[in-house]
Amino acid sequence: MRTPFIVGNWKMNLTMKQVDDFLDTIKGQLPDPNNVECAIAASSIYLDKLTEYCKNDVHLKAAAQNCFYKNSGAYTGEVSPMAIADMGVSYVMLGHSERRKYFHESNQMINKKVKAVLSNGMVPIICCDETMAKRKTYDEMNWVVNPVIEALKGVSAEDAKKIVIGYEPSWAIGTGKSASGKEIEEACFLIRETIQDLYGKEVSDLVRIVYGGSVNAKNVKEIMSQPDVDGVLPGTSSLKPEDFIKITNFGK
Ligand code: 13P
Repeated sequence: MRTPFIVGNWKMNLTMKQVDDFLDTIKGQLPDPNNVECAIAASSIYLDKLTEYCKNDVHLKAAAQNCFYKNSGAYTGEVSPMAIADMGVSYVMLGHSERRKYFHESNQMINKKVKAVLSNGMVPIICCDETMAKRKTYDEMNWVVNPVIEALKGVSAEDAKKIVIGYEPSWAIGTGKSASGKEIEEACFLIRETIQDLYGKEVSDLVRIVYGGSVNAKNVKEIMSQPDVDGVLPGTSSLKPEDFIKITNFGK
C-alpha cells in the first residue's frame, strides 16, 4: 500500500564533477519506481543539475535539503520554495537535526515551511530528532511526537496524506551506530499512532515514515523489514553511487 521510499541525503558534500559521476553511474541501476521510489536530497547549488537529470530518468526524484517559507522577497541567502518547485523538485527535507542544531530552526518555523512546500505542490519530508538522553528517560515519548504535532499544525488531512516523516535519532547520525530494528519500529509505530490521533486511520495508513541514522547496505534489509518503516534516509552511504544503488535494492 505504501511504496518504499529511499532518500539519499548528500548534505554539504560532493563537487560538480562528483555529482556528474554519481548520476552517470546510477543510470539504469535503480529499481522500478512502482516498487521502490528513490530520491536524492542535494544542496541547492546542485538542484538544477539534479532536476534536469530526473526529467530523463523516472527512477529518481529530486529533493531539496531545505527551503524558506516565503516564495520571494528580501531574504538574502535563502532558497525560494516557488523557485525550486518550478525547477522540478519533488520533495523538500525540513527540520533535519543539523538544521535545528546549527541554524536554530524551531518547530514553528518548520511548520511555516511545511505549509510553503505543500502550497507549492511539493512534498515535505518532516524530520524529527531524538537524543540518547531523552530516549533513556522515555518521558512519555514526547521526544519524537512533539515535533511531528507542531510541524503539522494547520495542515489539512488531504495534505497530510502526502507527507513523509523522517525519524532520525541524532545519536545515530554520522556515528556508524544505527538504531536497532526494534528501536526504530518503536518510534515509527508511535509516530504513526500520533498521525492517527491527529487525522484518523485512513491518513495514518498512507503517510510514509522513513528512518535515517547510519543506514548502509548491510543493515537496510533488517530496517526495512519493520512493519511501520517505509524507507530509509542514508547520508554517508548515499555519497557513493555503488552504495546508494545497493541500498535501493535493500542490500542485494
Ligand atoms: P548518516 O547516514 O551519515 O548517519 O546520516 C543520516 C542523515 O542525517 C540523513 O538525513
